[in-house]
Amino acid sequence: MKLSKTNYLIYRDCGKNAWVRIHRPDVFKKYPLSAFEEGIIETGNEVDILARNLFPGGVSIDDRYDFKYTKELMEEKTPVIYQPVFETEKYQIACDIMVWNKDTEKYDLYEVKASNSGEDKKKKDELYTYDIAFQYIVLKDLGIPVGKLYLTRLNCEYVRRGDLNLNEFFTKEDFTERVLENEDLVREEMRVAYDYLFQEDEPNGFCSCITKGRNGHCTTFEYSNPGIPKYSVHDISRIGLSKRKLEELIDSGIYDILNVPEDLKLSDKQSNQISVARSQKDIIDREEIKTFLDTIEYPIAFFDYETFPSAIPRFDGYSPYNQIPFQFSVHILEKPGEELKHKEFIYTGNKNPDEYVIKALQELIPGKGSVIVWYKSFEMSRNKELGKRNPDFEKFLSNLNDRVVDLEEPFKNQFYVHPHFKGKTSIKYILPALVPELSYKKLEIQEGGTASNTWNKIVTGEYSDEEIKKQTENLLRYCELDTLAMVEIFDVLQKIIRS
Ligand code: SF4
Repeated sequence: MKLSKTNYLIYRDCGKNAWVRIHRPDVFKKYPLSAFEEGIIETGNEVDILARNLFPGGVSIDDRYDFKYTKELMEEKTPVIYQPVFETEKYQIACDIMVWNKDTEKYDLYEVKASNSGEDKKKKDELYTYDIAFQYIVLKDLGIPVGKLYLTRLNCEYVRRGDLNLNEFFTKEDFTERVLENEDLVREEMRVAYDYLFQEDEPNGFCSCITKGRNGHCTTFEYSNPGIPKYSVHDISRIGLSKRKLEELIDSGIYDILNVPEDLKLSDKQSNQISVARSQKDIIDREEIKTFLDTIEYPIAFFDYETFPSAIPRFDGYSPYNQIPFQFSVHILEKPGEELKHKEFIYTGNKNPDEYVIKALQELIPGKGSVIVWYKSFEMSRNKELGKRNPDFEKFLSNLNDRVVDLEEPFKNQFYVHPHFKGKTSIKYILPALVPELSYKKLEIQEGGTASNTWNKIVTGEYSDEEIKKQTENLLRYCELDTLAMVEIFDVLQKIIRS
C-alpha cells in the first residue's frame, strides 16, 4: 500500500474520490473516459516525450516499478534520466526528467506539464507546487542529492516559425523556493492523506459536492450520493455560481427540481427551467423570436467548423493549443422555400490546412446573406485566427464574421424554453427536444471531441488507407448533421411565428 503522487493530488481535490479510486476501481472506472479526456492523456504523453529533447541522450526507465535500475543509474550519476521511479515505505513517485548537475553535484528535477503558461496560472502554480513538493520529499527521504526543482510547461506566447524551437516553446520555471517553503505543510498533508486513503472502511455520508452544481461533480457522484434524482437541484442552470441557494435547498432536504419552493429567489432563466419542468409545457415568446428571425438575410449559410487543438504547434503562425480548423459543413438556403443545398470540405493531408480551408470557404459560402452558426464565439474566433495567420484573406474572413448570426441566442435569451432543454442551450440538448427524429446517436461520430481525435489519427498515420476512407466519411456525416440540425431548428422557429 503505497500512496502515489497521482492519488495524493486527487485526494487534495477530493478525498472521497481518491478513496473510491483506490478501493473501488469498479466504481471509479464505471464510465469510460470521454474523447476529450483521452485527448488530454495523449497530449500529456506527447509533450512528455518532446520535452526529453531539451536534455537529449538520456536513459529511460520504461518499467514503472524498476526501482532497482533507477537506483543503479543514480549511483552512476547518469547525466540524464527519463521517468526514474522511487519508493519509500509509504510513497511512490515517477519523475519526468532528472539531470545531473556537475557544478552542484546534485540532481535537478524537471516536472513536465502539457498546460499553457498563461492558463489559470495562480491556481495551477499552487497545484504544481504540491506536485513537485511530493516528489521532493520522497527524493529527500531517500537521501538523493536534489538541487533545483523546475517546472517545464508550454510557453503561451510562443508562435511557431519554421522548425519548433524547444527552448522557446517550453518554459523552465524555478519552483525550488516555493516548494521548500511548503515542505512541512505538504509532508503533513501526505501523512494525513495516507491514513485517510488506506483506511479499510469507506468514508460515509454525502460527499462535499452535494453543494456544487452538476459540472463540479465527478463520475462517482451517483455512487456516493444514492437517492439523489437524476434531474436534481444540481441541474438548475448556473446554480453552481449561487452556492448559498444550493446550500439552502440541500439543508432543507430538497433534491428534486420539482420541489424547489416557489419563494426561492432565482434568476429568470432558473425560474423558467423549473416552471417548464413542473408544467411540462414550453415557454415561447413569439414576438422576440420574430424580431430575431427578422435579422436573418437570404441567402442563408448554416455553417460549422470542426477543429483540432494541438498542444504542440504543427504549422507556422500557430501557438500552443491553437485550434486547427480542418473541416466545415454548410447548408445553403438561397430563398425561402427553395431547395436546401449542402456543401462540405475536409482536409486530411499533412500540410497546414489554413489555405485549403479558406479557399474552400471562398468557393462554397455565398458572398452575401447571413452565416448562421451555433455559439458564435467559437466560429468567429477561428475566422479571426485564420485571418491573423493569413493576412491576405483577413478582409474576406472579417466579412464572414460581420454576417454571423448565432442561432443559440433565442434559446440563451429564453425566447424558447422547453422542459427537455433542462436549462441547457447546447445544440445537443435543443435538437432532440425540437427535432427528435434527427439524432446524433445514429452516427459513428457523435460529438466534437471524437471528431477532433479522429482527424488527428488520420493525419498522424494511425489508420490504414481503408480506415481513413471510412473515418473521413464519418467526419463528414457528423459535421453535416451539425448544420442540418441548425436548418431544422431554424425551421421550427419559423413555424412558431407562422402559427
Ligand atoms: S462528487 Fe465531488 S465530493 Fe463526491 S467524490 Fe466526486 S469529487 Fe468528491
